[in-house]
Amino acid sequence: MPEKVVIIGSGPAGWTAAIYAARANLQPLLFEGAITEKNAQQQTLPLGQLNLTTEVENYPGTPVGKTREYLASALKGDRIPYWVQAEKAQPSHGINGPELMELMRQQALNFGTRVETDDIVKANFQKHPFELSTLAGHFVEALTVIVATGARANYLGLPSEKKFFNNGVSACAVCDGALPRFRNKPLVVVGGGDSAVEEATYLTKFANPVYMVHRRDTLRASKIMAERALNNPRIQMKWNSKLLEVIGDEAKGVTGARLENVQTGSKEVVESAGVFLAIGHTPNTDFLDGQLALTDKGYIKWTTPARTYTSVAGVFAAGDVADDYYRQAITAAGTGCMAALDAERWLAERGHH
Ligand code: NAP
Repeated sequence: MPEKVVIIGSGPAGWTAAIYAARANLQPLLFEGAITEKNAQQQTLPLGQLNLTTEVENYPGTPVGKTREYLASALKGDRIPYWVQAEKAQPSHGINGPELMELMRQQALNFGTRVETDDIVKANFQKHPFELSTLAGHFVEALTVIVATGARANYLGLPSEKKFFNNGVSACAVCDGALPRFRNKPLVVVGGGDSAVEEATYLTKFANPVYMVHRRDTLRASKIMAERALNNPRIQMKWNSKLLEVIGDEAKGVTGARLENVQTGSKEVVESAGVFLAIGHTPNTDFLDGQLALTDKGYIKWTTPARTYTSVAGVFAAGDVADDYYRQAITAAGTGCMAALDAERWLAERGHH
């Protein structure tokens, strides 16, 4: 018997789709991704981008409170974060990314979602039921598929960038910018597009100055956004510059950045408590092998306004894999819900309940 709903991906879009599909009695099967060296390297391990962040202060419903007690009662066994059991003071936060993802996963399990720790490596959408093959060599047939594989932030690939990841290096100012470590300190943002301008502008709420390190002497960002950055007295442009090395130590995290002027070759070190990369994202669509229409930026195309339909009837897309614009946990969860409802209605119209 083919599966009614297969969900691919385990970020907020995937788990929300699973919660809705499970509660609609569709017995969803969710592929959360495989734990492999390749996935670790390219940051596509289970639980998605949120699992790589620290505090999540903007997800509604998760204010600062007694998270230790809540997590200990809501989660099971070895999935309870170590600090919940540890005899140490409770961190003063509402919830962090990995905890939020564990809670979403548990909520999906509570309603009967079946979870495979495996990747879908091949899909055949020419046939119905759709055919899916996994990295572990399994084969699954599905009446509907929800693609929620997300996107991964691009990094420069510097060893020092990797070394200080989550210890001052981030690709998400909205996620991490308000952390105490960055308050009233200088910061570096790399990139010259709308994201870089948005991140730099956002960071000026907390930090001063914010150096924008851009490899050319004009911004790629839209005119209005570029002007916003250029007119902000807290943003200092480092034109024609590239990041050579993130400087710091284990205890303090990032303390500076070594830059190089690509025209003159001159080098300088700027003091900085953090380095934010804003050089674009890559949606995780390789396994689709061109079978779904993509936007000109390579994201899955939603073919109907306010629906999660893709170019193949019965295949739905949710979260960052189809959204290069909002890219928030809450918007991903929202489209995950929409995809499950869309799949449910699609099945009902064809007599599958
Ligand atoms: P983007 O427009 O592709 O810009 C990426 C930036 O990173 C460019 O300035 C690029 O430099 C730089 N870059 C890329 N690879 C690099 C490397 N290896 N080393 C150094 N610099 C590198 O990406 P984005 O800013 O994330 O924006 C993506 C899309 O989302 C855009 O369409 C944007 O308009 C949209 N967006 C809109 C808003 C908004 O309207 N509020 C906010 C965010 C994003 P070059 O310029 O030299 O190529």
